[in-house]
Amino acid sequence: MPQRGHVIFIGAGPGSADLITLRGAAALARADVVLFDALTDPALREFAPKAEWIDVGKRGFSTTTAQTRINALLVEHAQTGALVARLKGGDPSVFGRLEEELQALAKASITSEVIPGVTAALAAAAASARPLTRRGNGRSVALTTAMTQERELHAGRRADTEVFYMAGRQLAMLSRRLLEAGWQAETPVSVVSRAGWPDQLISEHQVDSLPAACVLHAGRPAVVTVGVGAAKVVPSFHESEDPLVAATPLREGHPAA
Ligand code: SAH
Repeated sequence: MPQRGHVIFIGAGPGSADLITLRGAAALARADVVLFDALTDPALREFAPKAEWIDVGKRGFSTTTAQTRINALLVEHAQTGALVARLKGGDPSVFGRLEEELQALAKASITSEVIPGVTAALAAAAASARPLTRRGNGRSVALTTAMTQERELHAGRRADTEVFYMAGRQLAMLSRRLLEAGWQAETPVSVVSRAGWPDQLISEHQVDSLPAACVLHAGRPAVVTVGVGAAKVVPSFHESEDPLVAATPLREGHPAA
């Protein structure tokens, strides 16, 4: 009976190779074959110099045929008994077609595991020092793809902060759709392209002035953060906003020092 292989999905993180997790790097080092995406850093090859590296990257919207081919490659290589690393940009489970690939492996009875990575929304929040959640008014975050399968641009208002993926080329349309969805014109918007790379670019806008970001980020992968989590952090001078102070019950005559 032929030896069965195993597939490890690895989140490469959004940018330079040092944003992969230690667990991801260790798994990569054990791989015989690596199937990688266009957005992953070539420097990651140093983690697995002896492995066979296969480029399965596809820019923009992938066709069903392209995805079917990737599924088939995963199964074919695993069936030779190889340890296959499936390296994906960001996190494998965020807009990464992980479901289709897991289904293909399950159908062929091939075992697999998933190692998380830093998704673009989190890298953008870090790059711009804008916390995605805020105490009080920033209690929910939605990761949204602006593009539907029919390549139409949709935008709603489902959370206090929405992070839009795959909208970079259509920021004017996104601005219109956000206004239609009920976002106020002056709602803060932060656009970060190539987050996590040395040449990352950050710009701040409002919903109604978002089209201006188009030229700045042209041709670069970008995420658009809208709402509370896009607001710049301003200095706070209120002692009571310190969570430790706020959590300490005040007794009369014994004010918190
Ligand atoms: N699985 C990936 C997302 C893949 S979809 C993740 O978890 O991040 C591809 C989209 O991700 C791009 O269109 C862009 O919106 C976003 N993206 C990927 N890398 C990015 C980066 N370094 N900076 C900003 N956005 C990025």
